[in-house]
Amino acid sequence: AAEVIGLHKSFGSLRVLDGVNFNVEEGEVVAIIGPSGSGKSTFIRCLNLLETPSGGSLSINGRNVWGEGRGPSRQELQALRRDVGMVFQSFNLFPTHTALENVSLAQIHALGRGKKEADARSFELLAKVGLAERTDHKPAQLSGGQQQRVAIARALALDPKMLLFDEPTSAIDPELRVEVLRVMRDVAATGVTMLVVTHEMQFAERVADRVVFFADGQIVEQGTPRQIFHAPQHQRTQQFLSAVL
Ligand code: ATP
Ligand code: MG
Repeated sequence: AAEVIGLHKSFGSLRVLDGVNFNVEEGEVVAIIGPSGSGKSTFIRCLNLLETPSGGSLSINGRNVWGEGRGPSRQELQALRRDVGMVFQSFNLFPTHTALENVSLAQIHALGRGKKEADARSFELLAKVGLAERTDHKPAQLSGGQQQRVAIARALALDPKMLLFDEPTSAIDPELRVEVLRVMRDVAATGVTMLVVTHEMQFAERVADRVVFFADGQIVEQGTPRQIFHAPQHQRTQQFLSAVL
């Protein structure tokens, strides 16, 4: 779960987040949509402090991790990164390591798991994302869709309470996206809290509990998929949807 109050972020004189108030409950799946440059990536990167907020406050799982211009201690930041996993558009796998090693390394380093236990968990997760036959492949020997499924397995391996996805299928060939989206739907069904920045409107409509429309660094409108896709209230939302649907 997360609670965001009055979040601001500027890069120099460019104001990117302009007072975002946002709550997500445990187990909720939230899709974040909106035009390019509206601050969606910056927003979710602030949630695990990959970006430093310029103002506002942020609590994750009831613990204040940012407020009054102050951030967490080193230990608190490590705990935050364990609890809040992230899946990027560009996969960000270690190129010189196999799929199995990519999933095991973080468990060994961040959780202190032994190699045997970590590898066993990695096999289990890679099988779950449909890659039981690919555990010894390096990223370059895998398709984009397969690499992204490794990245999802890696994120799940830390038993996160919340998962952040930033356009996880945008860099993948259209015909390979469906497998990644299926895995994400399965993950959603396990009850992990998920925030997904996405252009996949079908996924947002079918899988999300709530859809949030971002524009100009603010949440313009949010609601159930039915409300947002079939009865948007704001002109900005209507404009955006008529352009992308
Ligand atoms: P897209 O749909 O294209 O991914 P977005 O909604 O994710 O867009 P952001 O990536 O959050 O948008 O960027 C919002 C604004 O902040 C953009 O104008 C971008 O150029 C700017 N920005 C993002 N990161 C930085 C940075 N590190 N330094 C300077 N400006 C940045
Ligand atoms: Mg983005």
